[in-house]
This record gives sequence, structure tokens and C-alpha cells, in this order.
Amino acid sequence: MPASRSLLADLQRLGLSPIPDEPLARRGFWRIGGPADVWVEVSDEDQLRGVMALGVPVTVVGRGSNLLVADAGIRGITVRLGGALRSGRIGPAEADLGAGMANTVLLARLRSAGLGGAAALAGVPGTLGGAVRMNAGWSLGEIGQRVLSVRVVRPGGDVEELPARALDFAYRQARLPPGAVVTRVRLSLLTDPEAVAAEHARVDAHLARRRRTQPLDQPSCGSVFKNPPGDAAGRLLEDAGLKGTARGGARISDKHANFIVNTGGATAADVWWLVRHARDTVWRRFGVMLEPEVHPAGDWPAGHWPLPPPE
Ligand SMILES: Cc1cc2nc3c(=O)[nH]c(=O)nc-3n(C[C@H](O)[C@H](O)[C@H](O)COP(=O)(O)OP(=O)(O)OC[C@H]3O[C@@H](n4cnc5c(N)ncnc54)[C@H](O)[C@@H]3O)c2cc1C
Repeated sequence: MPASRSLLADLQRLGLSPIPDEPLARRGFWRIGGPADVWVEVSDEDQLRGVMALGVPVTVVGRGSNLLVADAGIRGITVRLGGALRSGRIGPAEADLGAGMANTVLLARLRSAGLGGAAALAGVPGTLGGAVRMNAGWSLGEIGQRVLSVRVVRPGGDVEELPARALDFAYRQARLPPGAVVTRVRLSLLTDPEAVAAEHARVDAHLARRRRTQPLDQPSCGSVFKNPPGDAAGRLLEDAGLKGTARGGARISDKHANFIVNTGGATAADVWWLVRHARDTVWRRFGVMLEPEVHPAGDWPAGHWPLPPPE
């Protein structure tokens, strides 16, 4: 649905350059999804507050590395953090960072400063805000373990500083106030040179392993399902014989069964079908109910999310 002229004018008055009908397939890792009614990039917190005060639904996107955008796209305003919200101060023992900063930028800056503490984000594409929302990580830890506090803008435009304990970090989730957008993140850093060197060595080994075991040359959103307690979703999916199962342009990777790759022209409906099929197959075979890790976004047909019970 195209954005109204008055909404575009309101956004322009905030100093923004709104893009109507922006195809989101260009903006996300899966290269899937319909248009945003209107897409804007805000360059500071005041602009974001202005957007959040318009009374129009707002969806925040980091790098779209964990998002399954509906084929019908996203209604309302889709916002990405830019400008000052991508920069920050690092060291000596803490970092105060814009939530739009890319994880790769943070890791490179820490390394060149001889500091550590963000190993949980190694190999995780995306932004710091998305990482906080997802409590992103891998076997070396989760980013929530390093978060001291976050600043958020709530729908309506109010700003709040939340200590880490208020976010209730758990496996691949953080409890943010409904509709809140994280704008800044304070992290505690690792400063002891020996501990920093050990962390960097573990990160390098981990990245090399990922290159061997994950289909990083094809569009995906990383792991589709969370690991169930005490097991690995990838193992269950592989043992259920799901590697190579395809629907339209979407395929369960032959290299890693917890990745669905876009082999060309995949739709969100194709991916949804595979997610459901894989979840149901594992349930029938092993009695384990896998939970999606990817976040659906936008205008999905009724009854798609949460996934309907297995047939
Ligand atoms: C190849 C590959 C490997 C991956 N490996 C890992 C891994 O090892 N571990 C792991 O945890 N994840 C992994 N991921 C998944 C993904 O990279 C992470 O979930 C990442 O943290 C998402 O960040 P993003 O900025 O792209 O967020 P998006 O995908 O854009 O958004 C994810 C969610 O966060 C919300 N969000 C984004 N920014 C903000 C903000 N500023 N404030 C509030 N909410 C926000 C969105 O609305 C959405 O609900 C991988 C993905 C890929 C493609």
C-alpha cells in the first residue's frame, strides 16, 4: 500500500528522505520479501523520536540478517538506523555505541585497539541493535553477557535507559518494551592483554570452522531454528533426511541442514513452507518441536505465524 502524501511530507519535515515502495528483497540477507510502504534511514535519535511520534506502525530493520519479510511487504514505516547511530566511543573498559553499528565494524575497531569482549558477534552479520534484540551469539557466549545498558525510543517518542537486567536476556531473545527501538548500547570490554589474545585466537578458529561448515556463499538468514535443549537443530534436521529438500527457489542447504538458502527467486511463501515442513518432519521423527529463530516481519496471511500445530 503506497504511503500517503501527508505521511511522506511529515517525514520530510523531520529532515528525512523517505523512499516509498522500497523493495525489501534488496535490504535483507535472504533477498526475499515485498516492498516497504515507506523506507527511511534516521541519522540521530531526535529523528527517530519524530518518526515514532507520528502514530504510524514502525518496523526497525538492522541488516535484515534474521528477518523473513512477507511477500506482501511491510505496512507503515520501515526504519533503519544510520548517521550518528552507527558510531560510538570505545574504551578503555567500556564501549558506548550506536545500535546501527555493524558487528563487523565493532569487532575490527576492538581488535585494532587491542581490546575484546564482543567475541559473541564474530561471524554474526548485522547490527548491534539486532544483536541485542536477538541476544546473538554462539558457543563462546551471547552479547547479553556484555551489555551494561541500552537506550531505547518507545512508540510515541519517549526515551529510556534500561539496565541489562531489565532486558531479561535468554537464548536468542531479549525482552524489550513493545515496539521499542534500541538506539545505543553500552558494553563492558575485555582489557587484559592475555585474555584478549586468547579471545581473538578462539574467534579466528571459529570463523575458519564456519567457512568450512556453513553455506556462506548463498543468501540465507543463518540458522532457521533455535537449538532445542541439549541438542542441535542442524543434527535433527540432517538425521531426518531434510538436506536438499526444496520448494520453489528455497532449499534446505546440503552443507548445513539448519540453513535455508535462496537458490534464486525464492519467495517468503517458499521459505515458510520449508520451515513448516522441516519442523513437522522433525516432530514426527523425533518428537522434538523446533522453534524458529528467524523473525517473520510484515504482512503475512492469517494463520502463518506462529506456525500452525503439526498436522
Ligand atoms: C550467515 C549467517 C550467520 C549467522 N550466524 C549467527 C550466529 O552465529 N549467532 C546468532 O545469534 N545469529 C546468527 N545469524 C543471525 C543474525 O545475523 C542475527 O540474529 C543478528 O543479530 C541480526 O541482526 P540484524 O541487525 O541483521 O537484525 P535484523 O535481522 O534486521 O532484525 C532482527 C530482529 O531484531 C529487530 N531489531 C533490529 N534492530 C533493532 C533495534 N535497533 N532495536 C530493536 N529491535 C531491532 C528487528 O525488528 C527483528 O525483530 C546469522 C545470520 C547469517 C545470515
